[in-house]
Amino acid sequence: MRSPVHATAEEVFEAVNRQDPRASRATIYNNLRSLVEARLVREVVADSRAARFEAHIEKHHHFICDQCGAVEDIAWFDVPARDRRTLGGRTVRDCELTLRGLCENCARAQK
Ligand SMILES: [Zn+2]
Ligand SMILES: [Zn+2]
Repeated sequence: MRSPVHATAEEVFEAVNRQDPRASRATIYNNLRSLVEARLVREVVADSRAARFEAHIEKHHHFICDQCGAVEDIAWFDVPARDRRTLGGRTVRDCELTLRGLCENCARAQK
């Protein structure tokens, strides 16, 4: 909870195991699921490789670097609301953006 990261379940597993080597992978996965259900942890849809989890549960967007894969938090800004009816009868509950491009480090390295 203290780490403001977008960690994969595997990374959480490794971090927990450094403190308590008895924790099994299944325990980590089950606990992450429970924390997501309790809305204490957010699951981030970052890429297709692995789900990432974070304890930063306030609304925010994400930026993903094409080059190094860094996942950064972007302060929330409102997405222009479209007429909900144009979404074909769906009820929209929430929305977040994933912006993609080059992070500051990678952009600097390219210059
Ligand atoms: Zn980068
Ligand atoms: Zn985030």
